[in-house]
Amino acid sequence: VVQYSTGDKEIFDLINKEENRQNRNIELIASENIVSDNVRKAQGSVLTNKYAEGYPGHRYYGGCEYIDQVEQIAIDRAKKLFNAEYVNVQPHSGSQANAAAYQAVLKPGDSVLGMDLNAGGHLTHGSKVNFSGKMYNFHSYGVNAEGLIDYDDVQKIAEEVQPKLIVAGASAYSRIIDFKKFREIADSVGAYLMVDMAHIAGLVAVGLHPTPVGVADIVTTTTHKTLRGPRGGMILAKAELGKKLNSAVFPGTQGGPLEHVIAGKAVAFGEDLQPEFKTYMEQVIKNAAAMAKVINDADNLSVLTGGTDNHLLNVVLTECDLNGMEVQNLLDTIHITTNKEAIPNDPLPPKFTSGLRLGSPAITSRGFDEEDCEEVARIIVDAIKYHDDPEKLQELDARTKALTDKHPVEFN
Ligand code: PLP
Repeated sequence: VVQYSTGDKEIFDLINKEENRQNRNIELIASENIVSDNVRKAQGSVLTNKYAEGYPGHRYYGGCEYIDQVEQIAIDRAKKLFNAEYVNVQPHSGSQANAAAYQAVLKPGDSVLGMDLNAGGHLTHGSKVNFSGKMYNFHSYGVNAEGLIDYDDVQKIAEEVQPKLIVAGASAYSRIIDFKKFREIADSVGAYLMVDMAHIAGLVAVGLHPTPVGVADIVTTTTHKTLRGPRGGMILAKAELGKKLNSAVFPGTQGGPLEHVIAGKAVAFGEDLQPEFKTYMEQVIKNAAAMAKVINDADNLSVLTGGTDNHLLNVVLTECDLNGMEVQNLLDTIHITTNKEAIPNDPLPPKFTSGLRLGSPAITSRGFDEEDCEEVARIIVDAIKYHDDPEKLQELDARTKALTDKHPVEFN
């Protein structure tokens, strides 16, 4: 075995610093989470050394006898978790899963209808700067002034643009999405329906959000958000689309699968099947609601749609004198990590925005309860109020430290 003497201090020092940052900061980015030690162990394992193009039992390389079993367990656990007929665990990311899903049912130039990025959709739902918007003829639906999907409007646009595929699902939508309604709309214009459940997959897995599986033709997801697995993607579908989807992932859009990540996915799905995961997801929802209540009660702040049904909320900043970018930067100084987010008809450009997205999955994984989350929201409200008072901000920073000291990141 080759021995290296340096230990690569440069990189491992930075990894240690990042670990300390994660421990010290209150992580409110709605798409992030904290994985278990076992997920990390699987992901950091020797499986990274192995090429395994193809699928279990049908590989283009020898030596896949253990890899095959790992991937099959990941597939079987995901099928059980979501009651799915077909699962592909190979997409390297959520974007890769969407690329393969599109390739399976569309030709370049086909008409597609997805949610506008500015209304809470994802880049891969047709943004002009993304492959989706360049390769397909994407049209978009948005949200109404209250921030809600207007299904009559989606129906109207679908009739106008006659899409071959409708994409439902979002990155910044805090309310239940009516997938059955989307199904009816898709059926009325003869379109396929794809649901990108990346954000809410954990809620779906435990029945806290209506499932799109069995309703949509194709369901895509990431595995690293509410599912609390390694960074990656996954596709679920009805059995009849399985062959097309397999070919669209490999060889259509990817080469060798990341079997070390697939092992991490298998471990995470095993955790997600335990009763504790449902308790965790229930707490995630309670925690988001607790933050929403405090924000709504504050002068000059409100929550888009009035609250939340899931793991995230969008704070409207139009009545206060800071924009989204300024609040994000301000909160960084007191160790609260968030991201700016556009609101419907945002008067400010995406670089600034008039909103802020907050999510509870990561802080719930480290043990925050509703009381802690009320305190987090009170700190945010006070930081905005006293943004030009350094002494006050220092006090608020001590309060974030008290919370992170109380709940260190320790997750076995
Ligand atoms: N789909 C949705 C709805 C998302 O929110 C995201 C990521 O935030 C993705 C897809 C893409 O995932 P990835 O970053 O793994 O490509």
